[in-house]
This record gives sequence, structure tokens and C-alpha cells, in this order.
Amino acid sequence: MEEKKRLILNLELKNFFFKQLSQSLKTASMGWIYSLSHDKEFLIDNLEVKSCNIGKFKKDKKNYNLPLTQAEFCLFQKLQSLVTVESRWKLMKEITAMSNCSLLKDSFENQTDEQALQLAKKFISSNQKFNIVVIGAGCCGLFFANNLKKKLGGLVNILVCDNRIQEPRVKEIYSRNWLTNLPKFLFNSKVDKSITEVFDWFSNSDYIGVNLNMMEVLLLQSCKKIDVKFLFKKDPYDELIINSGIDLIIDATGGKIYQYYPEHETKEILLNIPTNENNTENLSFLLKEKNNYHYPFFLDKPIINYQFKIVGITENLNTIITDYVNKNNRDNLFYVWMGKLIKELNEVLIIINIKESNIKIFQDLLKNRIHINEFAQLEEKIKLKIDSRIIELINLILKNKPIDSQIYLEPPFAYIPRVKLFYKDLPKYHNKIIYPIGDSFYNGNAKVGNGLGMHLLHIEELTKTIEKSLLS
Ligand SMILES: Cc1cc2nc3c(=O)[nH]c(=O)nc-3n(C[C@H](O)[C@H](O)[C@H](O)COP(=O)(O)OP(=O)(O)OC[C@H]3O[C@@H](n4cnc5c(N)ncnc54)[C@H](O)[C@@H]3O)c2cc1C
Repeated sequence: MEEKKRLILNLELKNFFFKQLSQSLKTASMGWIYSLSHDKEFLIDNLEVKSCNIGKFKKDKKNYNLPLTQAEFCLFQKLQSLVTVESRWKLMKEITAMSNCSLLKDSFENQTDEQALQLAKKFISSNQKFNIVVIGAGCCGLFFANNLKKKLGGLVNILVCDNRIQEPRVKEIYSRNWLTNLPKFLFNSKVDKSITEVFDWFSNSDYIGVNLNMMEVLLLQSCKKIDVKFLFKKDPYDELIINSGIDLIIDATGGKIYQYYPEHETKEILLNIPTNENNTENLSFLLKEKNNYHYPFFLDKPIINYQFKIVGITENLNTIITDYVNKNNRDNLFYVWMGKLIKELNEVLIIINIKESNIKIFQDLLKNRIHINEFAQLEEKIKLKIDSRIIELINLILKNKPIDSQIYLEPPFAYIPRVKLFYKDLPKYHNKIIYPIGDSFYNGNAKVGNGLGMHLLHIEELTKTIEKSLLS
């Protein structure tokens, strides 16, 4: 890309980021305000607990020894060849759980890391094209790649990299089988049509319904179909970026490459969020910087909630669960959410708040997800330490669930909101603009719906800005 065009693009991106910033902060703060108002009895104070790294949990042991399936495989064709919705759903479940699926291979199969790196570098150094590297092949990175490629086609070369791999050239499976709460309009005519067609099979409401990992696998397959390239490799991507023809780096790592950013000049920023339409009342947050992110503090306390999820509950248990929860939820211990899939496939999700004194118990118990039947075998003396309503609700589910149900308790997670802020300019990494999207920008509160859906809206506006700048 010509230097002049690149400078114009950088300017447009900077204007876009700073123009959107106050709205983005307002959106991010919806999650903070929810925690302070609804989940206030579960906010965590203890510094020691806060600093323990929840990401250190052991992962489920996956079987990575199977050879990769050789056959070239198109998920969309395979789905089309099936007639019933149930058989298509079963295939989606199988594919997302399959570690040896050829879909997980990158675009440089049979090459060594070094060869793949050189080929990838050549690909994103074309003089005739706009060259973009997306770091992170999660939902936002894939959505960005699909959306921009759809807009710009042959004008752009997009390389998506990910370092969570089974072996060189093969990505880890997409394992987060979480329900999503994403309206269809976020995808319709913004990504390849094959994807939205699949959403329509599984949900007849205005929401896509499918689990996060299904959405990721569909986006991955579609990106490959429209000629987005992938590089799955363990090490950082410095060698790829230095002395390359990359015009723009997109950080879609969920906030994992904070060290790629320069330090922010301002360590503490006061942020007033209006709480009424006339802007006459505000909530004041102090944003404090740590590891290149700013964390909101309210009245000198950070905002931290620990929670765990119960997943895989069939829709027919919803009435029993909501009856119990409605009578026993004065402090918002439970959050019940009904999925948006068609009736035959639909599930209920329960998010349960964890009190500070119970965090260690749940961390030990849920190092990996456990089947709900395992919870019944928990020692009585441990059960006595847990809020009795959690025990009662789980017993109620155990009593009413079908024998073969696949209900799981997932490892606890923390909502620790943070946001990436820049001082005047967009940051550069090895002299290339690096732009954060998705959870690399800010993380949402799963109960408020201010995360993924809002990220996708932002990405659509970002790709429009890129399109406008390049086509002008
Ligand atoms: C515990 C928890 C529960 C949630 N529950 C739900 C839910 O039930 N439903 C829902 O819709 N949303 C949920 N969310 C929100 C949702 O997961 C996020 O909004 C979404 O995943 C953000 O997408 P992303 O693409 O920005 O990041 P991610 O989905 O985290 O993707 C990041 C990608 O970057 C890759 N990566 C990381 N580091 C590197 C690196 N150094 N180099 C290269 N690649 C890298 C990772 O392998 C991954 O593929 C939840 C979030 C959390 C934290």
C-alpha cells in the first residue's frame, strides 16, 4: 500500500477510535454499574483472592494424538447434505468437539514453522494490496476478517494468527460451548451468507442462538472459503511483523498482548458516567492503570465478581428453576437465562455468584468442568460451607433432570472489568498501527450483554471506516 494512503488510513482510524471512545466507555460502564447495583453483595475485597490467577486452571485433557483427518472438508456442504435440523445440530456438536478435524489446520500445512512464517510474511507484504494481520482467531478476530474481506475482496490480504495450538499448523479446538445472546442483524449481510443460513436453521427468533464455539467454527470455515489465510504457530509474531509490508495490525487476543502497547501517560483518570438523560447526575469512576489497561474503581474499590455457570440444562426444566429462583434471589445470587435456539435444542444457563469466602472451595471443586451428578457426591462438610440455596437448586435440578442429561458445572470465572485507553495517538508496534478489538478493547459483563454484541457492532463500524478510507 502506498505510504500516503497508509497515512490517511491511520488518521481515519485514529479519528474513529477517539470519536467512538466516550460511547464505548459508556457501554463498558453498563457492566460496572450492573455489578455495583445488582451484584453488590458479591463484590470481592480481598486483595489476595483478587490476585490469584484464575486462568491457571488445568484444561480438560484433550486427545491430541489422533491423526488429522486428511480429507478436505467443507462444513457448509456437509451440513447442507443433511436433511433434519437434529442431524445438522449433531454434526455441529461433533465437529466442535473433534480435535483431529482438518478445519483446524492453517494455510501452510506440511511446512515447518520457519517456512510457514516466510510464506505468511510474503503474503502480507504484497505491494498491490492492503495487508492486515489479525492476532487472535477468536470470535472477534474471525468476525473482523470475514466482515472486511466481504467488503474489500481482492483489495485486501488478511492473515489471522493464533498461538493456542495442538501442534504447529493446527489450532486447539474451540471449546467454549457457551450460549450466546447475539441478534441476527449483527451478522445479516455483514458476513458470508453461508453462516447466517446455518443460524436460521437453529433459531427462528431474532437471535442467532448457537453456542460461541459453533459460531467460531462457522466463521473459521467461511473465512477459509473467502480466502482469508491462517497461521497457527506458538511463538510471538515479531519476526512476521518486523520488516514486513503489513499496513495494520488488529489485536483480537482478548487482551493477552498488553506488552505490545506503550505505557499510557496518565495512570489515573477520573470518568463521570451520566446516569440520567439530561446528564445532570453522574457516577464517578477512577480508572487506574495496570499492565497497560485501565481498571475502574468506585469509591476507592475495584469492581470484581466471581461466578460460575451451570450449562446444558434442557428447556423443560426452566419453570421449576425459575419458580425456585424467583423466591430465593433477594441478593441476585442466581441469574437465569433462557437460550434462543429452537425448542428442541434450547437450553437454560444459570450464572451463580460466589461469595468471597467460597471462592477457594469452588476453585478447588471446579478445576475442570464437572457433571452435575458429581456435585451430589460432594462431602457434607464442604456443602455446609456453601450457600444453602446453591445446594437446594442443584438438588432440584438433579431430582428433575432426565437420567442421560449433559448438565455441567463450569470452572469459576471473574468479571474484572478493564479498558484499553490511548493518549492522543493510536499505538504502534514495530512501527505499525495496532488496533484493539473485542475483549482486547474492553470486557463486558456476561449478564448485561454489553460485551460480544457491542464488540461486533464496533467492528462493523471499524471495517466501514477502513473501506471508506481505502476506496476514497
Ligand atoms: C468467563 C467468561 C464467560 C463468558 N460467557 C459468555 C457467554 O456465556 N456468552 C457469550 O456470548 N459471551 C460470554 N463471554 C464473553 C465472550 O467470551 C467475549 O466477549 C468474547 O470471547 C470476546 O471475543 P474476542 O475475540 O475478543 O476474544 P477471545 O474470544 O478471547 O479470543 C481471543 C483469541 O486470541 C487468541 N490468542 C490469545 N493470545 C494470543 C497471542 N499472544 N497470539 C495469538 N493469538 C492469541 C486465543 O487463542 C483466542 O483464539 C464470557 C467471557 C468470559 C471471560
